[in-house]
Amino acid sequence: MPCYRYRPEPTTQRQAIRELCGRENEYVPDPKLGEANNVRRKAAWDAKNDEVIDQGLITMCGDFEMSMCHESGCDREGLLLCDWPMGRSKTCDLPLCPGHAREIGDDRHLCPIHHPMWVKQAGVTRINPWPPRNIGAPRK
Ligand SMILES: [Zn+2]
Ligand SMILES: [Zn+2]
Repeated sequence: MPCYRYRPEPTTQRQAIRELCGRENEYVPDPKLGEANNVRRKAAWDAKNDEVIDQGLITMCGDFEMSMCHESGCDREGLLLCDWPMGRSKTCDLPLCPGHAREIGDDRHLCPIHHPMWVKQAGVTRINPWPPRNIGAPRK
């Protein structure tokens, strides 16, 4: 059973519940309480929901595969993959954390090796939609 020691991206309880349960963690007013009490309770609920949870370094063990960010010394999960085309409809796929991936468009990211090549070839730093239509831009 592999173990991974990493530092998860800070998240809020709201985001965590949305990702885990696929629904919003909204406060449901209690009819037994008065209006003012419900307003107070909702405010406390929302404050708790939006609190940033930074778990620091954690260890996860289990039957799953996890990619770590490829940047040396980085202990975050490689949530994003480099989208640089490598031919035969394959992409570079180097895993990077949101802090180390270079965003070039909506849900399009490049690794620190391919980003400078992209900027040089495409002459822009961000493009939408993909693939770019500039002459000399990387082709899939
Ligand atoms: Zn990283
Ligand atoms: Zn790459």
